[in-house]
Amino acid sequence: MEKTLVILKPDAVQRGLVGEILTRFEKVGLKIVGMKMLVPTNETLVKHYPDELGDIIGNKTKQDWDKYGVEYTESAEEIGKIILNATRDFMRSGPVLAFVLEGGHAVEVVRKLVGSTGPKDSLPGTIRGDYAHLSLGKASIARKGAANLVHASGTVEEAKVEIDLWFKPEELYEYKTAQEHLTHA
Ligand code: ADP
Repeated sequence: MEKTLVILKPDAVQRGLVGEILTRFEKVGLKIVGMKMLVPTNETLVKHYPDELGDIIGNKTKQDWDKYGVEYTESAEEIGKIILNATRDFMRSGPVLAFVLEGGHAVEVVRKLVGSTGPKDSLPGTIRGDYAHLSLGKASIARKGAANLVHASGTVEEAKVEIDLWFKPEELYEYKTAQEHLTHA
């Protein structure tokens, strides 16, 4: 059994998609073991989206911009910093819904349900592919963090660190779902 962190970002909350998105996780049988609404602090977001992510985003964005002939004056490092800060600002622009899901291969399954980072590249049937369409390119040219509805932990190790960052141990619950009663009793 694995646990993974999911955050419904401000765009999901403001667009009234909380129920629809949650349903998708519930339908595949993942168990909600913790949940809360909050406006995250900058301190949390700096840990959640650390400075090193800016370098990765900056290099990827520079490659994309060069490929598509976008004009810019910043270095890859500066682009990364701008987009990372914009992403952190976006995450605290309104309340988010953070929750922990538990299940077999939960990390991988949740990432599959969520789709790729850029909504344009997310397949139909995924959350990002079904409820958004903008590309990372469009977001980055506007110097914005992509509004892609959901955060989901990328690896089992990342999930452990992120759950510790967003939840206190007493905010997580143990219980049996009906499915567990019926199938594994
Ligand atoms: P994911 O959320 O799919 O794990 P990352 O960890 O690479 O993706 O990025 C964290 C978040 O930063 C993304 O979900 C998105 O909101 C934002 N982001 C990443 N890359 C870009 C980009 N090139 N342009 C705008 N925003 C981006």
